[in-house]
Amino acid sequence: MKVEVDESLCISCGYCASVCPKVFEVEDVSHVKVDTVPKDDEEAVKEAIEGCPTEAIKEINE
Ligand code: SF4
Repeated sequence: MKVEVDESLCISCGYCASVCPKVFEVEDVSHVKVDTVPKDDEEAVKEAIEGCPTEAIKEINE
């Protein structure tokens, strides 16, 4: 699983980083810190995708 953040939509609320700090880091806006999401973090990343208030986080389909 891979994800990306649309920086133009991110409002820096910090939710994604609080749910899954290993994958997301919010400085100015949220950044994805990993290339591929580790299996153990996939559930948390899905929660972040669902909980992001602006739907800025998208799963990348390959
Ligand atoms: S949850 Fe969404 S809006 Fe909030 S910091 Fe993360 S990507 Fe940005």
